[in-house]
Amino acid sequence: MRRVSILGATGSVGQNTIDLIARAPGEYEVVALTGASNIAQLAEDARRLNAQVAVTADAARLEDLRAALAGSGVQAAAGQAALEEAASRPADWVMSAIVGAAGLKPGLCALEQGAVLALANKESLVCAGALILSTARRHDTHLLPVDSEHSAVFQGLVGEDMATVERIIITASGGAFRDWPLEALEHATLAEASSHPNWDMGQRITIDSASMFNKALELIETKEYFGVRPDQIETVIHPESLIHAIVGFVDGGLMAHVGPPDMRHAIGYALHYPERRDLPVARLDLPQIAQLTFREPDLRRYPALRLARAVMERGGLSGAVFNAAKERALDAFIAGHIGFLEMAEIVEEVLTRFDAETGRIDAEMTLDNVMQTDHLARERADQVMAERAG
Ligand code: NDP
Repeated sequence: MRRVSILGATGSVGQNTIDLIARAPGEYEVVALTGASNIAQLAEDARRLNAQVAVTADAARLEDLRAALAGSGVQAAAGQAALEEAASRPADWVMSAIVGAAGLKPGLCALEQGAVLALANKESLVCAGALILSTARRHDTHLLPVDSEHSAVFQGLVGEDMATVERIIITASGGAFRDWPLEALEHATLAEASSHPNWDMGQRITIDSASMFNKALELIETKEYFGVRPDQIETVIHPESLIHAIVGFVDGGLMAHVGPPDMRHAIGYALHYPERRDLPVARLDLPQIAQLTFREPDLRRYPALRLARAVMERGGLSGAVFNAAKERALDAFIAGHIGFLEMAEIVEEVLTRFDAETGRIDAEMTLDNVMQTDHLARERADQVMAERAG
């Protein structure tokens, strides 16, 4: 039996992963499931999959989790140390699907015990790409991309020589506001930003799709994971969300990955790699789809894409600053404290100030430095927002 753990099991990617695992009883031994606030879901899945341990990141919810697991034989644990202990338990394959920079440390723990890390948590690569890749190498294991775009690129590269790759084109749906008049964006509400035209995902990534901060993170993730130069990475708006990415080769050929907008394809590919297995996803009917369309992204509508370019060029710890500022600005938008367009303005200001005032961007990429940078950038973002409000 393959031993698997799912970090962020109660979220959108986590639930899709559980769906695939639950369809193959007897094939997997579930080591750890982790969540944060959704205790009922965590306990239900831990019972159903007979997990060794269920962990909530929220220490205050330990008693609730214990009560929900009473009599099941599943161990209950809570808090950051318990999360890291669970990620460190021997497993063959670990899904990293916690949202945000909080996913970095548990992902590193999983690599350190030698597991293959299926990486949905793109923030890990954005904040600490070199660290996470070197940790995998040191422990003689590897990462598999789960973001649908990066899974698509990965699949397009099977059997290919990286030296023959000319460019990587990451597609974007354009999010909820793709066709809105520019002047209306300023007044976009939380509810409007929280609905995606094609994908069913967690709230934070859905809002990040509307602002294209999600795509910005993915561009940086592409640079880190595939080791290509920023000028080799392109973005194109593709409203149908059926082509997930395209790899362009030196002979002019383009290899496009086409598939339904269902995360279980990319998760299933990473779960069964290097095999391909039958997956419970819709089969595309091309005559019915009839056409696939593409447009240039408008940088006035999506300033996050311009910021991603700056981060890729700057390198060092600028990804950690970018992500932390984005997370704080997103928190403030969700809380109703700032407007939709202000998110990018705040991130840009934090990036500029942090670089000019701290000199930390070029510090060595250790876990401590990344976490400290993350912390300081969050403080800067709060400071910038307080100044703007006052
Ligand atoms: P969700 O918000 O749906 O789920 C996040 C998960 O992380 C939940 O299990 C949540 O627990 C847990 N969590 C939240 N905060 C913390 C914390 N501080 N410490 C530990 N665990 C925490 O997110 P998604 O599933 O949408 O996304 C997960 C990751 O995958 C993100 O990095 C996202 O960018 C990436 N991704 C997502 C895709 C999608 O289709 N959704 C596609 C590609 C990538 P609880 O719910 O119990 O509070």
